[in-house]
Amino acid sequence: MLEIYNSLTRFKETFKPLHEGHVGMYVCGPTVYGDAHLGHARPAITFDVLYRYLQYLGYKVRYVRNITDVGHLEHDADEGEDKIAKKARLEQLEPMEVVQYYTNRYHRDMAALNVLPPSIEPHASGHIIEQIAFVQKILDRGYAYVANGSVYMDVEKYAKDYPYGKLSGRNLNDIVTETRELDGQSEKKHSYDFALWKKASPEHIMHWPSPWSEGFPGWHMECSTMGTKYLGEQFDIHGGGLDLIFPHHEAEIAQSCAALGKESVHYWMHNNMITIAGKKMGKSYNNFITLEQFFSGKHELLSKPFGPMVIRFFILQAHYRSTVDFSSEALEAAEKGLQRLQEAYQRLQNLTPTLSSGEGVSLRGIADLRQRCQEAMDDDLNTPFVIAALFDSAKAINTVWDGKGTISEADLAELRDVWKTYAIDILGLRLEEAGSGDDSQLKAFHGAIDLLLGIRLQAKQNKDWATSDKIRNELTGLGFQIKDTKDGFEWSI
Ligand code: ZN
Repeated sequence: MLEIYNSLTRFKETFKPLHEGHVGMYVCGPTVYGDAHLGHARPAITFDVLYRYLQYLGYKVRYVRNITDVGHLEHDADEGEDKIAKKARLEQLEPMEVVQYYTNRYHRDMAALNVLPPSIEPHASGHIIEQIAFVQKILDRGYAYVANGSVYMDVEKYAKDYPYGKLSGRNLNDIVTETRELDGQSEKKHSYDFALWKKASPEHIMHWPSPWSEGFPGWHMECSTMGTKYLGEQFDIHGGGLDLIFPHHEAEIAQSCAALGKESVHYWMHNNMITIAGKKMGKSYNNFITLEQFFSGKHELLSKPFGPMVIRFFILQAHYRSTVDFSSEALEAAEKGLQRLQEAYQRLQNLTPTLSSGEGVSLRGIADLRQRCQEAMDDDLNTPFVIAALFDSAKAINTVWDGKGTISEADLAELRDVWKTYAIDILGLRLEEAGSGDDSQLKAFHGAIDLLLGIRLQAKQNKDWATSDKIRNELTGLGFQIKDTKDGFEWSI
């Protein structure tokens, strides 16, 4: 039995991949029935940083992140209408149209956040045959039963042979009190048994033939099946949000042990949740803010638009295992912090050494920067410490920029390399784009030109040709094209 790891403390010393030089990593991806929101951004960014860091350390990484497109039901893992089928019914679309539409939008949002695409992105609906075979293995080993065309995990029987609940620290008694019986007519032996295969009711539009019924796989089945298909019966890292530990990941462990006689996952990693003004994100609070709404600023809880790099920076400012509370003020503070880093990064590119090689005065924030970043990443991906080290070196950069300090050619080269490695390549911050993540400068610029041309229009109406011509000629000289229209003016650069 493998040990359970819930973190990668002292990463470099303690992380031992199953195959030298290679890492297999599986992360639970989105259920594609709506736009991605802040709750999707956090696991995507957390495991993107891990993926980038493992590659920086020289591992060849196979990163699998699935798309859930069938079997995720409305009320809980086993009951209610399929979330995608419901969306398809409401919007009069083919379920796969819903899946494609939201998958495309998810990819667009992830690209904006600079989240690298995974190596493999398998769909649950594309692996029905493999899931049926996995269920059959569990039945063959006696840990599941068929009831009325559905197949359920026999949790009580399983728990006699394997420790059920060890990831979440629950025991069967806890689980009994947590899992409510939805109706007295349940075909399950126990409320804590979970579906491996569900017989489709007549109104259920997504279903496939199986030895037990025309139906569909239980939600947990896809991750056990696709994880082991692409990464082997045992693989290194499985990630996801803390909310997936129970029942989803606990069920995955049980399925693997029941079918294969062993656990599949070596290290479990879970990112903590994001709260909004202290509250959980949830439909009942009406506080789901989609990433698109962040980028456009169109949501009542937002004071203004926030660019994707501000969101990324905001998430990386907290350790992935701590909760993050979102508010517009917190995002504004993150935006200011990001701007300071961007400014320092751009200055760093334009600095020239003030001393020839070897004579450099070591400024605080330069000498030990690489070591601080490395140690922070090694300590369970401590991204806030990496950011703090970068801020310290930003102070040193500004000191040299302001002519109050000196830097040697060697120190400058070292500084540029550390920033490129940690800020750009590992944290994935796009610092090179001036004003990226912030359109307030652009807005101010547009406002100023509109204001000037408004003054010119007023001057023309007052027959003040001198002012009107001066504004026009000066702007034209700066490269603007100005066109008078019957409603006023248009301009472009
Ligand atoms: Zn999963």
